[in-house]
Amino acid sequence: MNMIDFESKIREIKRKDLLRFTKNFSNMDSPRAELDGKEILIFGSNDYLGLANDERLKVAAINEVYNDTIGSTGSRLTSGSRTVFSELERVISEVKGTEASLIFNSGYMANLGVISAICDREFEVFSDKYNHASIVDGIILSRAKIIRYKHCCMDSLEKRLKISNSKKKLIVTDGVFSMDGDIAPLRDIRFLSKKYNAMVMVDDAHGFGVLGKCGSGTCSYLGINDGIDIQIGTLSKAVGCVGGYASGSRQMIEYLKNISRSFVFSTSLPPSMIRASIESINIIKTESERQQKLMMLADYMREKLINLGMDFGQSTITPIIPIMIGDENKAVSISKRLMDEYKIYMPAIRVPTVPKGKARLRASLTANHNIEDIDYVINSIADIWGSEIV
Ligand code: PMP
Repeated sequence: MNMIDFESKIREIKRKDLLRFTKNFSNMDSPRAELDGKEILIFGSNDYLGLANDERLKVAAINEVYNDTIGSTGSRLTSGSRTVFSELERVISEVKGTEASLIFNSGYMANLGVISAICDREFEVFSDKYNHASIVDGIILSRAKIIRYKHCCMDSLEKRLKISNSKKKLIVTDGVFSMDGDIAPLRDIRFLSKKYNAMVMVDDAHGFGVLGKCGSGTCSYLGINDGIDIQIGTLSKAVGCVGGYASGSRQMIEYLKNISRSFVFSTSLPPSMIRASIESINIIKTESERQQKLMMLADYMREKLINLGMDFGQSTITPIIPIMIGDENKAVSISKRLMDEYKIYMPAIRVPTVPKGKARLRASLTANHNIEDIDYVINSIADIWGSEIV
């Protein structure tokens, strides 16, 4: 039991000033919540469309709880399947324009399960340097060779594809990058995939619900559904629920259903969560004003940051706006002052989530924010910026 000295490991994390804490919010109602009895303005949730506390989703979930079990009682291949799962899979496929879809318990499990089912030792996987951790973990689990290319850099990707001798190649990228709010050049990626005979997988966790017609995501926003072999997404961000999915050809989905270990060997989600997800996607399809407002707010915030002379990297269109600070301690200090003095929650993001020296505040918006909220956060940042940074 003494093989690992957890105390000294924690001391080491503390010494690097990287110890993390969970915060217990209550009365969460985007963009406001309570923390330690005080009302906080949230600029750090993934509830992009403000649906996580929507009454219609709650009613759908509660009705399902009374119609069905709380827990699903098994994996999808045993007692844990219901027609509501197939219904959601149909709804997702319809929105995304794919032949079929498969629900996983989270986006993380989808990436892990899909990559490890499709790739093996003979594969070379070309992965954007800023891809989400679950993609990297999926590649490691698959035992494929990981080849990382420079973030969104097609020269870097092509150079690596050109010298590859492997017959089995997969290019994998986030659609919208979670810490940068920029969009992968999917059109160019698809071009290179054809030129070098590689499969393409897009993790659209942050694009689904936010971009494209009916919230269908980054691929359709860029007009390139064809030629993308695998689309991954999550129900935990714009959809406001929990869960993940993979979409693609009917045959691939059939294969994943049989082989993907995170699908086969885990109890499926509660039916109530699946019902609420269907309700949410139907709302997203019909209330496009949520997307439009979100984009308007994000553009407004980017404009204000330009006026302040602040760097938000390549963030564009999306509700993820990084405010680049660089130094880890400074980023933490500003985030703490926003919370302590202005009651704003905007997390500081540091290593290992982003590269060392690229610490930032990650602002994320919801359609329930308003212009006054943005003005308030911008003025607060300006106050702190003036007193601390200069
Ligand atoms: N992919 C990306 C790009 C993500 O940002 C996240 C969550 N932060 C995930 C996958 C995992 O999704 P989930 O939270 O549903 O597990």
